[in-house]
Formats: sequence, C-alpha cells, structure tokens
Amino acid sequence: MIKINKSSTAPEILRNEGKDKRRALCEKYDSGSREFSFDGNIYRDDTVKEELMRAQNGKCCFCEEKFRSYDVEHFRPKGGFRQKNGDTLEKPGYYWLAYEWDNLFLACPICNQRFKKNLFPLADPTKRARNHHGALSEEEPLLIDPSDNPGNYISFREEICVSVGGNIKGNTTIEILGLNHEVLIEKRKDRLEHIKDMFEILELSEEPDTLITTDKVKRARTFLDSTVKDSAPFAAMARAAINSNFNFA
Ligand SMILES: [Zn+2]
Repeated sequence: MIKINKSSTAPEILRNEGKDKRRALCEKYDSGSREFSFDGNIYRDDTVKEELMRAQNGKCCFCEEKFRSYDVEHFRPKGGFRQKNGDTLEKPGYYWLAYEWDNLFLACPICNQRFKKNLFPLADPTKRARNHHGALSEEEPLLIDPSDNPGNYISFREEICVSVGGNIKGNTTIEILGLNHEVLIEKRKDRLEHIKDMFEILELSEEPDTLITTDKVKRARTFLDSTVKDSAPFAAMARAAINSNFNFA
C-alpha cells in the first residue's frame, strides 16, 4: 500500500446529489427506519471513478496491482459490517458515508470481494459509531486507511508484507486484505527479481574493469527510478528494497 492523495474537493455529484441522499438517509434513520438502499449511480459516477483512478494511478488502493477490473470500494462499509470473519453481518453499516469522498476508493475484486468484504475491525468495538450521530473520531480502525501513510504500519521483507514493529494495525490489515496471499506473493517476487537484476547491474558497473556498458547502466537506472514511482505496481515493496540496498531489516 502507498498513500493515496485524493483531490481535496469531492467530485460535484457527491457534493450535490450525494449530499442530498445523505441527508435523506439520516432523516430516515431518525424516523426509526433501519433499512437503507443506496444509489450506485452516484458513487460509481464516471467523474468519481476518473478522479479516483487518477489519484490511485490505475492501481488497487490495497494490493497495488494495476487494474484489470475494479470496484468502487467503501472503506467503512455502507450496508453492514463485521468485526471479524465468521461474525454475523451487523446492520446498519455506515450508511451516512455511502457518498462521502473520504470513504471512497477503487479496489481490485480480489481485495474487495474475496478478502475485505464487509470487514471493518476496530481496536475497541464498543466505540463504533453506529449511526450518523456517533463520532468517527472515537473509532480506532484496525485497517489502514489508504489516505493515511501506510508505510508507518506496513513494510516488506523481500516480497513479503510485514507489519512495522509488529504493530496490530499492520498485522490486521495484512491478514484481512490477504496481502500475503500466494498469487500476490508470486507477482511481487517476479517484480522484485527484475529489480534485483537491475540493481546488480549498477553494482557491477562500479567495479574496476567492468564490462557493463554505460548504456546498460542508464537503462538499469531508468528502470529502478520508475519502480519507486507512485504509478508503479508494488511501489511500496520496490522502495523498501531499494532504500535498504536489499538489506531488509
Ligand atoms: Zn487489490
């Protein structure tokens, strides 16, 4: 995961229609109703998806794989939530955040549908905001918000995701999102091997009587520079590898 920098102003449709829908949902709750429906045409509007796509550089907000397909993901689940796998779905969910810019991201179907689903664990579930009168600031989510700095919680040992200092938020995020699932590890391993090859070319080029051509050095450097950019797949892993000179802590 890398930090996602969304535009500070929400797309217009969220500020207008989204706001009206939110008001209606809150009034419905206050009048005693606990059944909510949501208008996907608003939070899945092209303007919303395009801005998220730009902010996320065409990558999943969780696993950093380049998109082949994607879902609009609600960080705090709108319809219902689970504290942990196996729990029954608790309703309502965070209905008042269904059209909130801060709560929206794009995620790949594997992260969203296979792993995260409706899970939204908190350090202390009794502090959960159960309706729009509750205080989100009281919650301590155990999932990393992609708008925070994920590097504070998660790093890499080679292609394996690790929790920084064993922190619980990092560990829970890795587990719930399946950030070390087999297929993902294989993909990151391929990427890392390529990075390592280029890194070794640079090292060899420093040796006396090197046979590495300046052209090859240039290509290796350009490739390595590209792997740490926000737009690169698995950029967080590449940064951990390159910044540590492949001496993982
Ligand atoms: Zn993903």
